[in-house]
Amino acid sequence: MYYSSLDFYVKAFEDKPREYAFSAQSREECVLWQSTLRNRLCEISGVNRGVRCEGRHEFLRTDDINGLSGEYHLLETEPDVWMPFYLFRPGEGGEHPILIIPHGHGGGKREAVIGQEQFIRESLEDGFLVVCPDTRGSGDRREFPEQKEEPQAMRSNSHRELLQVCIGFGRSVIGTAVWDLMRLADYLKSLPETGDFMACAGMSGGGQQTLWWAALDERVNAAITSGYFYGMKESLIELPQNCACNFVPFLFETADMGDIGALIAPRPFFIESGKQDHLSGKSGLQNVYPQVETTRKAYRLLDSEECLIHSIHPEGHKWIGRGMREFLMSSRKRYTQMNERS
Ligand SMILES: [Zn+2]
Repeated sequence: MYYSSLDFYVKAFEDKPREYAFSAQSREECVLWQSTLRNRLCEISGVNRGVRCEGRHEFLRTDDINGLSGEYHLLETEPDVWMPFYLFRPGEGGEHPILIIPHGHGGGKREAVIGQEQFIRESLEDGFLVVCPDTRGSGDRREFPEQKEEPQAMRSNSHRELLQVCIGFGRSVIGTAVWDLMRLADYLKSLPETGDFMACAGMSGGGQQTLWWAALDERVNAAITSGYFYGMKESLIELPQNCACNFVPFLFETADMGDIGALIAPRPFFIESGKQDHLSGKSGLQNVYPQVETTRKAYRLLDSEECLIHSIHPEGHKWIGRGMREFLMSSRKRYTQMNERS
């Protein structure tokens, strides 16, 4: 006999609506709500506790990853906190749009390059400067318990250790990931070879980072999340064995995932879901649709429903990528046209 307490939290989630659940009825209400929830999410995730630093940068070497030339760079994102990232340059010169691809679980930046190689190659062909960073606790940023070179250790991460430490400072793993992506964007946008348009795309944990970063930072002009968009009750509370980086103090009282998605409106947002993705929770796509509908309400109010795309594939927790290249191209075109008009 086990006396579990998990059901207590499931019920707590069901009994009380999220404090910042989307309820706007007009464009004005929607914009105001977005700014209020953004501020609250920055508070509870600790994004606003990030410590500014000099932002030192170093270029180390060039690595070959399946024939792709990845420039290995280091960027200081907080005092003496270094984020390694791979930078891939498109062929021709001129100003390039930026595409950041944060990785998911099962490794770091190198694994993201291998997992999304085709998408990276296509994006380079389309003129994007592509950047794949290591998230704190992953890849070359693993902490001492995971710093081993065996394949299993290389796929592991230190998110649990980092959450346990940073929570005592009012911070979270996803909050520090967002902070680091913000600093990476500062750096990339300061380069002479980059244009204004910046997109972010990720699978699973990379989709989570994309969702949060795009929601909190309006400089992200287009976002793609794959394998990470579902109701929190079924996917996070009923699946508490998910990685520690999913969990943020007060999150379950604050907003559901569709509310976070609604913060991206009216910017182009592409959600990819697998029909058999076990991380969507026990009701599968039925735990995804209501969240997409919440997000859609914001796009409707902001007259941009065509900018929200929900693509469903028949497989499991997997990046398929169908339609993403076209989505990025059309998002970029739309961005250029809007800037020309204004
Ligand atoms: Zn994690």
